[in-house]
Amino acid sequence: MITKYLHLILAQKRIAYAALNADLCVTTVGGDLDLLGFDARACGTQLTELVPELIGSEETLSHVLHGKESYFTLPRINRDNVASGELCYLDFSVLANPSEDDVRAVFVVEDVTLLARTEQVLTQQRNELSLLRDALATQNMALATVNTELRQLDQLKSRFVTIAAHELRSPLATISGYVDLLEEEDICGELTAMQRDSIGVIHRSTERLLHMVSNLLDLTRIEAGRLDLALQSVDVIAHVHQVLRELQPLVAEKQHELTVSFADDLPMVLCDPERNIQILHNLISNAIKYTPPGGQISVAVSPDQDAAFLRFAVTDTGIGIPKEEQVRLFEAFYRAGNVYEVSASGSGLGLGIARSLVELHGGALWFESAPNQGSHFAYTLPVADYTM
Ligand code: ADP
Repeated sequence: MITKYLHLILAQKRIAYAALNADLCVTTVGGDLDLLGFDARACGTQLTELVPELIGSEETLSHVLHGKESYFTLPRINRDNVASGELCYLDFSVLANPSEDDVRAVFVVEDVTLLARTEQVLTQQRNELSLLRDALATQNMALATVNTELRQLDQLKSRFVTIAAHELRSPLATISGYVDLLEEEDICGELTAMQRDSIGVIHRSTERLLHMVSNLLDLTRIEAGRLDLALQSVDVIAHVHQVLRELQPLVAEKQHELTVSFADDLPMVLCDPERNIQILHNLISNAIKYTPPGGQISVAVSPDQDAAFLRFAVTDTGIGIPKEEQVRLFEAFYRAGNVYEVSASGSGLGLGIARSLVELHGGALWFESAPNQGSHFAYTLPVADYTM
């Protein structure tokens, strides 16, 4: 079968051949003779005279002529094509032909220029790839070093914040205690209006500082994964009332219209009561801070769509949050650009902490907001003893 189609296969290749006798002399030639570099006139001449690349391989050639080796190949060579003058790549081989006395071997030349060029391009690309791999490895190492440095700096920052916050907390608690004492007139005597005002300012500033210090401590605990919850089965209505009681003076000061609603038969919730109060405090105090006087605020607690959770919602008619800033709202220390419209003080820490606390409980916290149209913050906490 192969002999039947051999001419078709060979027609696809550029090949020339020369038959050789026992003295290594050319007897006939055929194929694409320009590859050989000689023609029929060379008959009778020794192959090594016609193909200088074979000089030095006489011993191996003799082995082929005497049937000791079946073939011999030369490493690929390149030379200018006799006819076209273009550089071409050639494979030389001498094949033993022990079955015929007058043709003991056949010298074959194959034009492999296309293959050689493709191999060259491949080698070049492989080299470039390996250079790129080296460069990538170097960059990766540099990145790893920078990452380690950044991690160390981050740890250093967290340690610094923790130590600073701890050190600040005790003297602040002492100041707060003495301010409370000063405010009690039966202990320190009657105060003048100016003294009462001044002590009031000290009181509020101390509270703000204490709040900030405890936020900083929470942040470092959350970052380090060291914030533990004391979970209990609780009635959260009391939490809402407690927070509203604490914030009532601010609501009154800004003459907000506050509405509170609880769905009927609210189930108990599995949460850390202190932490839930902290979350509610953050969301409701934000609603108060960022809603101009006379605005409306509503607080609602109801079952979530997912019956395994209870949903807390705080809605206001305040300044809202610009769309482009909403993605950054949970970043530590981030405050939207419009907070200055209501000159509300803050540190940009509470919301991120509130979301982490909710997530630690297994719930979710989200919001919807539009500038000057108000904000709606909501979160879920798991219902205690929930069974499907
Ligand atoms: P802050 O101490 O600044 O209030 P938070 O972390 O609680 O820090 O909130 C981050 C930022 O989110 C606020 O500075 C404010 O820009 C925006 N924000 C939070 N709640 C509201 C709200 N109800 N209305 C408008 N903006 C809000």
